[in-house]
Amino acid sequence: MAEKSSNISGFYKLTVAERLAVVKEYAGLTDEEANMVGNTGALPTDLVDRMIENVVGTMPLPLGIATNFQVNGRDYLVPMAIEEPSVVAAASNLAKIARKQGGFHTSHSGSVMIGQIQLVGVSDPHGTRAKILQHKADIMSRADACDPVLVKFGGGARDVVVRVIETMSGPMVITHLIIDTKDAMGANAVNTMAEAVAPYLEQITGGRVILRIISNLATYRLARAWAVFDKEELGGDEVVDGMVKAYHFAAADPFRCATHNKGIMNGISAVVIATGNDFRAVEAGAHSYAATSEGSYKPLTKWERTKEGHLIGSIELPMAVGLVGGATKVHPTARVNVKILGIKGANELGEVMAAVGLAQNAAALRALATEGIQKGHMRLHARNMAAQAGAPVEIVDEVVRRLTELKKFDFGTAETVVQQVKKERGLK
Ligand code: NAD
Repeated sequence: MAEKSSNISGFYKLTVAERLAVVKEYAGLTDEEANMVGNTGALPTDLVDRMIENVVGTMPLPLGIATNFQVNGRDYLVPMAIEEPSVVAAASNLAKIARKQGGFHTSHSGSVMIGQIQLVGVSDPHGTRAKILQHKADIMSRADACDPVLVKFGGGARDVVVRVIETMSGPMVITHLIIDTKDAMGANAVNTMAEAVAPYLEQITGGRVILRIISNLATYRLARAWAVFDKEELGGDEVVDGMVKAYHFAAADPFRCATHNKGIMNGISAVVIATGNDFRAVEAGAHSYAATSEGSYKPLTKWERTKEGHLIGSIELPMAVGLVGGATKVHPTARVNVKILGIKGANELGEVMAAVGLAQNAAALRALATEGIQKGHMRLHARNMAAQAGAPVEIVDEVVRRLTELKKFDFGTAETVVQQVKKERGLK
């Protein structure tokens, strides 16, 4: 039999239902499977069809609410969209501990993004840099002219920075447009400005522009948070000591540091997704900042002891998130999640996300430094495991109870327990 081809002519022109029928046929999906994919839930089909290309349905994620967050004296319920168990519980637990010593305290460096314009083909890169800077005011007004709405909201060009960098194809002159994008994440806004300004740079310099695109290393858009975690609530001196040493391990070793920062992003990305923001942009910003702000890849958090012996944690990372633009206002669930948060501005949103990242990291460090991550994680994962091992909904709780009693959360034990319970209850 001939191999099936994924070269499907005119797929994009079909309706959502027609595309799904093609995929159903191609992949041999059952009616039930096709209906699962095609169920668009809270998103009307015509809306999803406008959000991305070649749409056939949606991919729902669980949405949980982290409780106990107090940031700058204000309480927040934090929506988190994530497939991984234990993240929401962990954030809520550590936010509760942080409350005892006053909760989270935050700040930000503004809502300013960088647009890069790559100029090549000049023999005098430093002279070229000087010529570009001479026209700074003109460049800024050309950028502003692209987005009167942003300017009306108080945003727009703030500065022009020009760098000469050495590359494999010789020196390049990189112009940074420094743009305040206010309550927008700003990628589209900044990209539009970079494209509009580029011909002017060619005219001033006689060089040739190639790339014109936002940078996700958003160093002018940092969110920061700190909190004190009470040593008694954490489990005493030894636990605090273990947590600090766990951080020192991450600070000294990139293999550990990658996972340390991944744990932080468990919390942050879940809120980024819940609010309809671009999680790839935030992840790229976080890891590139971790890799560059101190010269080599480092933890996004710092952990120390206060003079009373409590644990104090702080976090700083780029937080390019918005309340307007992209999918934030388009996605109906994202809009409701912003309402649940009660957030009024993009900077406030970034700060709450930083607080969540800090709580998440504290939870992971505490679990790792004490019982190990697997105990709590697997207890929560046991529900998924029971279902995977074939437990019908009505026996999932009983299977989880027995696995917890046995303190065994491996798949083999789950299968055995499921069979036992099914047999006892006369289930097939
Ligand atoms: P956008 O263009 O949809 O909306 C931003 C615009 O909204 C502003 O330019 C402004 O004109 C208007 N606006 C209205 N009220 C505003 C207010 N109070 N504050 C600020 N602006 C206001 O979106 P965007 O934020 O420019 O871009 C975000 C999108 O870009 C995301 O979907 C992201 O995925 C995508 N994107 C990201 C990258 C990247 O990160 N590398 C690259 C390209 C595109």
